[in-house]
Amino acid sequence: MRFSCGRCGKSYPIDGLAYKCSCGGLFTLRKEGKESVDLPVSLGETNTPLLRKEIYGARVYFKMDHQMPTGSFKDRGSVVLVNKLKEMGIGEVVEDSSGNAGASIAAYCAAAGIKCHIYVPESTPAAKLKQISAYGADIVKVPGPRENAAKAAQEAAGKTYYASHVYNPLFFEGTKSMAYETYVQMGFPDTVFVPAGNGTMLIGAYIGFKELGFLPRLIAVQSENCCPLYNKFYDLPDAEPKPTIAEGIAIAHPPRLEEMASAIRESGGSVMTVSDDEIRAANETLRHMGIYVEDTSAVVVAGARRHFKNGINNMRKVVLPLTGSGLKT
Ligand SMILES: [Zn+2]
Repeated sequence: MRFSCGRCGKSYPIDGLAYKCSCGGLFTLRKEGKESVDLPVSLGETNTPLLRKEIYGARVYFKMDHQMPTGSFKDRGSVVLVNKLKEMGIGEVVEDSSGNAGASIAAYCAAAGIKCHIYVPESTPAAKLKQISAYGADIVKVPGPRENAAKAAQEAAGKTYYASHVYNPLFFEGTKSMAYETYVQMGFPDTVFVPAGNGTMLIGAYIGFKELGFLPRLIAVQSENCCPLYNKFYDLPDAEPKPTIAEGIAIAHPPRLEEMASAIRESGGSVMTVSDDEIRAANETLRHMGIYVEDTSAVVVAGARRHFKNGINNMRKVVLPLTGSGLKT
C-alpha cells in the first residue's frame, strides 16, 4: 500500500510523517491487487443491524452504526487505521477531534498499546472529553476555534504520526465497510442519505460502493447553519457558520470538500440542508420509536422527511445510517 497525491499523483509511504503532498494535494490510498488490512486488534466490532422501519409514510432502512464499540461509526475507520499502524510498528500518534473520532481513535489506540495525543479546542465541554480521557489518551487543549486544534496537531505531526480521520486515507479504507455490510444485508440500495461534515462517511460509502460496482444516489445532509458542501455544490457564496445542534458535522472548512462534491455528483445525488428545529423533530421521531441517537445523527432523518414530503417515486431502497449514540450526549 502507498499514499498517492490526489492532485499530482506523487507517491508516499503510508508509515511516513507526511500527511499531505508537498504540492498541497491530499492523499488517497493506492493498493496492489486485493491488498487489505488484517484486524487482530479488536473491540468486538460486529456487522451493525439494518433495521427496516416506516417513517413519515415511507419505508426506510436504518443502519444502526451508533451500536459500534465506542458508540459511533467512526470505529469503522479507527479499527483499520490503528491496526495498520500497529502492524507498521508505530507507537505514538496525534489526532485532532473534539468528538466521536477522538474517542474512537483513543479507544483503538488503547487496545493496540499505542500512545495517543488528542488535540481539542479549549472550549470543548467536559462531557465530550470524558470518553476520550477515559481511554487514557493525553488531551491537549488548544485555545481558539476548532481549526486551531487541527493546526496544532499538524505541527506536532512533524515529529509524531498523524492518525487523522480526515487526512489519513487508511481511515476511509475503514469507513467503506458500511457499504460492504449494507450490500450483504439488502443488496444495493438506490439512495443513501449521509450526514456531511468532514465527509468520513460520505467518502467511505463512495469508495465502498464503487469497489462493489454500483454507486447509489448519495444525498448529503448538512445543517443550514454550517453548510460549506451545499454552498460549493450549488455555487453559492461562502457563508459565516453559526452554531448548530448538529455539532458533529459543524465543519466550516472541510479539507476534502472537492472530493465530497465530486463523489455526490458522480452518484447522481444531491446536497440538502436542514434547520435545528427539523433536526430536533426528527430526533424526537427516532426516540419515540425507541432509537436513541445524538442530534447529528438525526440530520439524515430530517433530510429524508423533506424528500418524502415531495413524494418518493424515485426511491425504493433508502438507507439512513445512524452514526452516533445518544448515550454519549
Ligand atoms: Zn501532489
